[in-house]
Amino acid sequence: MKKVSVSYRLTAESGVIVGSSTDVLSIGIDKATIRRRKVGGGAAQEPLIPGSTLKGKIRYECERILSGLDHKICRAPRAETMCPHHPEIENPPCEVCKLFGGPSEQSHLFFGDATVKSRDVPAQFLTRVQAGVSLSRKRRTAEDERLFYAERGVAGTVYEGKLEGYLEDDLVEPQLALVITAIERLAAIGGAKSRGAGWTNLEIASVAVNGQILSREEWRKLREKGLSVWPKSK
Ligand SMILES: [Zn+2]
Repeated sequence: MKKVSVSYRLTAESGVIVGSSTDVLSIGIDKATIRRRKVGGGAAQEPLIPGSTLKGKIRYECERILSGLDHKICRAPRAETMCPHHPEIENPPCEVCKLFGGPSEQSHLFFGDATVKSRDVPAQFLTRVQAGVSLSRKRRTAEDERLFYAERGVAGTVYEGKLEGYLEDDLVEPQLALVITAIERLAAIGGAKSRGAGWTNLEIASVAVNGQILSREEWRKLREKGLSVWPKSK
């Protein structure tokens, strides 16, 4: 087993949602970004992006990449269509479940929460409350008295996070290459931009194998090579 870690940095676009009512959820804003943590002893709270949010997005990109390489992948996140229940996966778990885990499989990757990078700004200035009116899904019109308040992280706030994994020696290259490629693809599409809860910039800050930090050139090479040697499905 080798320990791998990938650190990333992302800049929030319109501000991640950090607090809200159920009305906000019902109009489809990414509920996974709703969390915050206390800083210091006071009431001030900082926004954060839960590791599970990034895990979900990176997993989805990995599914798309592996499907493109002709691997049969189960369908997350509903347990009924995931390994070992997916009818088309002959030898569960599939390659994505092997890496990210599933109902019957432990995850090899662990995602920490992404927290605010700069400590210069007091926590109370990192969020702002926004009022909105929810729309009726059927009629696409504003409903009376459906005003909601959402607390958003301020746009432009930089978050830093890290994922770590314990990978089989002979799978380090292909699996790490897959994860790096997925993050880069997410960076290219700007996360969940279309839902207004995304980021403007996502970049890999560092990649390490067994504690050894790879240079940008080294991990780019690993990405090229690793993707080209992806084990064929059996
Ligand atoms: Zn699977």
